[in-house]
Amino acid sequence: MRASGDRGHISGAERLVSGDLLQQTVLELAGRAVSKQTRPAEIVLTIEDLGITMPERLKSLELVVADATDVQTARSAAGRFLRKAGVTVAAAEHALGLLSSGPGPSGENMRGAMIIDASSGKRLEPDQSRGIRASRFDWTLPAGIRMRAQLAGQGLGHFRTHEALALATKIAHAPGVIAELCWSDDPDYTAGYVASVRTGYVRFPALKEYGNNKGGRAIFVENGCDVSTLVNYLETEAKLITDTDAESKGER
Ligand code: AMP
Repeated sequence: MRASGDRGHISGAERLVSGDLLQQTVLELAGRAVSKQTRPAEIVLTIEDLGITMPERLKSLELVVADATDVQTARSAAGRFLRKAGVTVAAAEHALGLLSSGPGPSGENMRGAMIIDASSGKRLEPDQSRGIRASRFDWTLPAGIRMRAQLAGQGLGHFRTHEALALATKIAHAPGVIAELCWSDDPDYTAGYVASVRTGYVRFPALKEYGNNKGGRAIFVENGCDVSTLVNYLETEAKLITDTDAESKGER
């Protein structure tokens, strides 16, 4: 689902479900599109039959809750986690600056993510106003239920955390990806994260001030990464995310 207004992107969401959940999922996504304060001028729901019975599974990144209380401390800590994952100081600072000012060409938010060379900080996505949108991922049904309960138990019951952890898991396992940095463009939602296979999904309660409507996603890739292979993975390869309990419960 994507909803947009006169000033561009408002909201979007991705699901990967079995056919029997189609109607319920369409209603949920349509409800999401009209739930924001800004009324969309256009809502697009795209439904594709992937024809696969069993998409490939990925084990969720581990959730790490960072305790930085103010935005400045959180951004410095996010920069340190990015460096730990293999991103240079220059590339991390460039991305932090772009998310602060709005990553689109005129400072607007993008529909998708930037792709950034983790060494030089150079932007590599073919369209800098649209970005790349990762699609075709979701939790398996039982893992989704368990993760919702686990997150709620940790005081992280917002649907955004649940969705972002699945998205970050798909992105972290992409060919050539080193790390990801994200905070929402929703003015009411200040949380953000750094995610990588090396660090896990490191969640910060506030990577921007309340009321700020600038945000986005930066995907850092290794130098020489084949961008078209990466884009193909992000846009088209179906992945279902399992939690760590799935194997012990014989779900794999
Ligand atoms: P959100 O967390 O939904 O507020 O999204 C924050 C920003 O992340 C959006 O403005 C987009 O730039 C980007 N984004 C959201 N969803 C995706 C996605 N599925 N793939 C890539 N980038 C996304």
